[in-house]
Amino acid sequence: MKTNQAILTDQFKRKHTYLRISLTERCNLRCTYCMPAEGVPLSPKSHIMDYDEIYAIAKTFVENGVTKIRLTGGEPLIRKDIHIILGKLASLPVELAITTNGITLDRHIDVLKENNIKNINVSLDTLSEDKFKEITRRNQFEKVYNNILLLIEKGFNVKINAVLIKGFNDDEIIDFINLTKGFSISFRFIEFMPFDGNKWDIKKMVSYAEVLERVNNHFFLENVERIKDAENDTSKNYRIKGYKGSFAIISSVTNPFCDSCNRLRLTADGKLKNCLFSASESDLLTVFREGKSIAPIIQKAVLGKFKIRGGMDTLEKLKKPDLHSKNRSMITIGG
Ligand code: SAM
Ligand code: SF4
Repeated sequence: MKTNQAILTDQFKRKHTYLRISLTERCNLRCTYCMPAEGVPLSPKSHIMDYDEIYAIAKTFVENGVTKIRLTGGEPLIRKDIHIILGKLASLPVELAITTNGITLDRHIDVLKENNIKNINVSLDTLSEDKFKEITRRNQFEKVYNNILLLIEKGFNVKINAVLIKGFNDDEIIDFINLTKGFSISFRFIEFMPFDGNKWDIKKMVSYAEVLERVNNHFFLENVERIKDAENDTSKNYRIKGYKGSFAIISSVTNPFCDSCNRLRLTADGKLKNCLFSASESDLLTVFREGKSIAPIIQKAVLGKFKIRGGMDTLEKLKKPDLHSKNRSMITIGG
């Protein structure tokens, strides 16, 4: 397969080798930080990419230098044709990964194994059944927790994502890290980010610095090891000495990692987003359906990428609702 990174290199010389594809706008949970209580307006089914379109558009990215694809959503595993999508994408020369809320993982272990998917990120924001119900508006804690144990047993590389919200789950940081004592998992704390309809307030966010302070106070500085981050990693990684697993902090708000950003996002309705925080989108699906080349649209979108956080280069700008509320809800971007 020929690769040509030219169209995926932006004006700041960042090469975009990682594509996140959202497979659906729907979800079997209703996380408060991700979507408004009333739900989001859903695109008609005919506007959502089918499996052939997902494959063809993904192939164009791979031909132009993408080496990693992560499937997300909504909840990617609720797509009825997920086995076909996985099979098609697994035929491309890329590392394939998935981010899921974990509810139906037990039914998908075989198809994930068959398609050589090793890296699975599961979202879990609390270890309390009641709090799980409060944050996700659904009563599925046990299912998700047991499915995480199943993934570990089956030998997958498991990362757990928790969005930290002050007064809600910040008292669980140490409990989460204690899970890494016996399990070889990575627990990742995500700073709460603003999106349309998620009632974001910087006062609700638990920052990178605050997480580290709590961890250092509890485990003592000499036991908290900074470990090497993977290339283009968005997280800062740590380990408690002697623990099997590790933990990490994703500090998109207080300490953005835009300099090394290698990510592009394709929404379920076939729009390319050059940045998680950017409200602007480029319609690839319509152009693809017209039988035209999507490469020039991709190139234009990549060249238009801002240096920092979709142009919100200061915390002050990020705090302005008129800037971040133009962006979609996270459920329709995919994280
Ligand atoms: N349904 C899947 C899941 O929950 O893992 C995949 C889609 S979800 C949108 C992808 C990731 O985005 C999840 O890890 C979720 O925690 C994260 N996320 C959603 N809203 C967020 C927000 N406001 N701030 C930070 N992370 C958020
Ligand atoms: Fe669904 Fe994931 Fe959003 Fe929760 S974070 S509502 S599981 S898409």
